[in-house]
Amino acid sequence: MSEQQTLHIAGTWRSAAAGTSREVLDPADATVLAVVAEGGVADADAAVAAARSAFDGGPWPRTPVAERVALLRRTADLLERDRERIALVESRDTGKTLEEGRIDVDCVAAAFRYYAGLAAAESAGRVVDAGSPDVHSIVVHEPVGVCALITPWNYPLLQASWKVAPALAAGNTFVLKPSEITPLSTVVLVELLQEAGLPDGVANLVTGAGDPVGARLAEHPGVDLVSFTGGLASGTKVAHAAADTVKKVALELGGKNPNVVFADACATPEGFDTAVDQALNAAFLHSGQVCSAGSRLIVEESVRDRFVAELARRADRIRLGRGTDPGVECGPLVSAAQRERTEAYVASALAEGAVLRAGGERPRDTGPTGFFYRPTVLDACVRTMRVVREEVFGPVLTVETFRTEEEAVALANDTEFGLAGAVWTADQGRARRVADRLRHGTVWINDFHPYLPQAEWGGFGKSGVGRELGPTGLAEYRESKHVYQNLAPRPVRWFAG
Ligand code: NAD
Repeated sequence: MSEQQTLHIAGTWRSAAAGTSREVLDPADATVLAVVAEGGVADADAAVAAARSAFDGGPWPRTPVAERVALLRRTADLLERDRERIALVESRDTGKTLEEGRIDVDCVAAAFRYYAGLAAAESAGRVVDAGSPDVHSIVVHEPVGVCALITPWNYPLLQASWKVAPALAAGNTFVLKPSEITPLSTVVLVELLQEAGLPDGVANLVTGAGDPVGARLAEHPGVDLVSFTGGLASGTKVAHAAADTVKKVALELGGKNPNVVFADACATPEGFDTAVDQALNAAFLHSGQVCSAGSRLIVEESVRDRFVAELARRADRIRLGRGTDPGVECGPLVSAAQRERTEAYVASALAEGAVLRAGGERPRDTGPTGFFYRPTVLDACVRTMRVVREEVFGPVLTVETFRTEEEAVALANDTEFGLAGAVWTADQGRARRVADRLRHGTVWINDFHPYLPQAEWGGFGKSGVGRELGPTGLAEYRESKHVYQNLAPRPVRWFAG
């Protein structure tokens, strides 16, 4: 298989300066899906230089908002035109089902349209009252500059769009670095931006490893902002690397997300069925490789046995397979390493006293080479276990129990993360009380997983710094500037001589 030229620098597609390449694997059977350029420090530097020059001397930061908005809308049109092709790329690369790939493309187009609409609706600045008729004072927004955008492997295109769309709407230039494990859809996105008419040098792409490419971008003096989505360990390194040059830093990190189920939510057969069904969805969608996965079920003790039995029964029936095959409900894990990590967490949980109710092993019917792992339910978990405290990022659901509302809230908040959480109850007062007390960036009441491009997304605690989506997601890519104009200048005579 010949190498694709996947570095995009100053408007041209090219190979890595060192001539290095990387094989991208199909997680469903471990065969080689594509060979891409493996960039290095020299490529990262070239991409920053291109973005710098396009920012400092190019037209994009000064392009009228209406033209920037039109480009975002054209990009959304192109994404929709190529929906099926892109969904297939995303499914093959990440292992997710084709239908999930389609939903991702729709959400990506929606993010571009949302930021187009937001930018179009905004005024050029805010006039402030300086307390004198002789002063005109206005606060305007300007782009931050060159942005390094670093993304993870689970939602490659979606996570890129949450950065690219607002960065472009605000007039920035950028260097995008997708995960080395799943870079293919990001290459397509940059091709579409080019087709939509984005000037050369505004969108640069360097495929390659986190260290050195991401690490170089994070420390680079020519980069003004780094926006990172990924794990806590890499995010911490990015924050350190960015500190020396006092860059703006936005971090979207992991989660250990509680799904709190009160017995009253299960009082009717329909309520019980819905709560179980959504707990399954919360934990096992995309094989649990979701930052906001509901991987901690915290269920009221009186319904625990019935709830866990039904959950385990249904988890056992989830149809695993290649994401593009009809009828498949869940794909493989993204890599051999991710499956080994998952296996290690399950082993540690069992050693610490957890009780296996479903899964806990590789399936026997999906072929020997793919990175599959069966949806796993671990009962009798307690908050001291590693599997309860750390992000597994695999199809593993832990079960804890509570007796009182107070205890439920304490368990749900007992995590160093704070990305998302849910509460299931038929009591509306309780729903609001618990939602108010959850220390998480997104709280669902009687639901799990939906997000809206117009609502902020991000985490409390070690789930990150800053917010994506919503108006705040655009503000991250802007500097505020106060312009104070004295309309009648006179000497101040502070110094008499
Ligand atoms: P990761 O941290 O391994 O990698 C993320 C990105 O960072 C990749 O592009 C990688 O190459 C790069 N990277 C790695 N080391 C780096 C370094 N030292 N300097 C700069 N860049 C570096 O994460 P992952 O395994 O790709 O993704 C899974 C993680 O992402 C999970 O923890 C998940 O919760 C998180 N995530 C969070 C959100 C969110 O919205 N909060 C969304 C999706 C994924």
